[in-house]
Amino acid sequence: MPRILVLPGDGIGPEVMEQACAVLARVAPDVETEAGLIGGCAINADGVPLSDATLARAKACGLILLGAVGGPKWDQLAPDRRPEKGLLRIRKELDLFANLRPASVFSALEDASPLRREAVQGVDLIVVRELTGGLYYGEPRGRADQDGVRRALNTMVYTEPEVERIARVAFETARRRRHLVTNIHKANVLEVSAFWNEVVEATAKHYPDVTLEHQLVDSAAMVLLRDAPRFDVLLCPNLFGDIISDEAAMITGSLGMLPSASLGVEGRGLFEPVHGSAPDIAGQDAANPLAAILCVAMLLEHGLSRLDEAERVREAVQKVLDQGYRSADIARAPDIANAGTQEMGRRVMEALG
Ligand code: NAD
Repeated sequence: MPRILVLPGDGIGPEVMEQACAVLARVAPDVETEAGLIGGCAINADGVPLSDATLARAKACGLILLGAVGGPKWDQLAPDRRPEKGLLRIRKELDLFANLRPASVFSALEDASPLRREAVQGVDLIVVRELTGGLYYGEPRGRADQDGVRRALNTMVYTEPEVERIARVAFETARRRRHLVTNIHKANVLEVSAFWNEVVEATAKHYPDVTLEHQLVDSAAMVLLRDAPRFDVLLCPNLFGDIISDEAAMITGSLGMLPSASLGVEGRGLFEPVHGSAPDIAGQDAANPLAAILCVAMLLEHGLSRLDEAERVREAVQKVLDQGYRSADIARAPDIANAGTQEMGRRVMEALG
C-alpha cells in the first residue's frame, strides 16, 4: 500500500496542502498519508528545520508531498539553521537528481501571460533539469588567488552515469507526452556539453519512438519567447535548467499554478509547488491551491504511475478555470477574484465528481 509523507511547512503551505490532500484522498482513496514537520514549524518544535526522525520517515515512505517553508519569523537565524536548510537536506538525503517543472498555459489563463496570447496558446512543456551535479557541485571550487591576483572558480563536470540517468528520465517523460526531447546545451564552447550530448545521443538509441533534437541554450532562451508551443520535454544540465525553467514558468504568468517534482533513485520523489510560503497572504484564505493540487497529479503520474488518476486531477483543474473561478493571483485584477483557497479546492472536488 503506497504511503505518502505530507510536509505542509509554513505560511500558505498548510493552507494549500489541505486542499491537495483532499484531492488525493478523493482520486486515490487507497493511498495512505502521514504528516510531518519541515521548515520554520520544525524549528519551533524540534529546534532544527528537518529532524532525523522526519528524515527517516521520508526515506521509509519514499514519496513526499511538500507545501513551502520559510517566513520572516525565522529570517534572523544563521544561514545553516534557517527553514530552507530543511528543504536542501531532504533533497540531498533522498538523492533527488531529476527536477521536473511543467509549464502549461491553461486556455482560460492565456491572458495571465506577459506574452501575447498568440505566443502562448497551447504551451505545454516540461523542463527536466539535472539537479545534483554540474557547475553547482563540481570541484575544484572557491576562491583561489594566484600570483597576487584575486581569482575564483567553479567547475562544470558530468560523469556518464549522471548524464545517462537524467536523459532516461527525459525520454521516459516524453514517452508519456508528445515524444519530443529537446536537449539544451552549449557544445560550441563547452567540452562538458559536447560530452553530455554524446551520452544523450547514446541513450536515445533505447528510445527509438522519441525524437531527439539539440538546441543551444542561448537560442532556446529566444525560441521560448517566440515559439514556446513547439517544445515538449526540455532536457537541461543543472545550470541551464535553473535559468530555462524560470523563464518557462514566467510564460505561464502565474506562480500559484506551477507544480514541480524532484525524482530520485528507487522510485523516490518529492512533489512541491514552485512558489514559496507567501507570508504576505498567509492565513487570509487567499492562496491559490492549484499548484499544490497539480503536485498531486505529478505524484500520481511520476511517483505512482497512475496516469488516469493524474489526468483526472488535471482535467478537474482545467474545468474549474473554464468555469471562471479565479483566486487573486490569476484574476485579471485582484479585486475581481471570486474564490479563495478553500473555495478553489471545493470547486476542484466538485469537478472531480
Ligand atoms: P513566494 O513564492 O512565497 O511569494 C512571491 C509572491 O507570489 C508573493 O506576493 C505571494 O503572495 C505570491 N504567491 C506565491 N504563491 C502564491 C499562491 N499559491 N497563490 C497566490 N499568490 C502566491 O516568494 P517570496 O515572497 O520570495 O518568499 C517568501 C518566503 O518563502 C521566504 O521565506 C522564502 O525563503 C520562502 N520560499 C520558499 C520556497 C520553498 O519552500 N520551496 C520557495 C521560494 C521561497
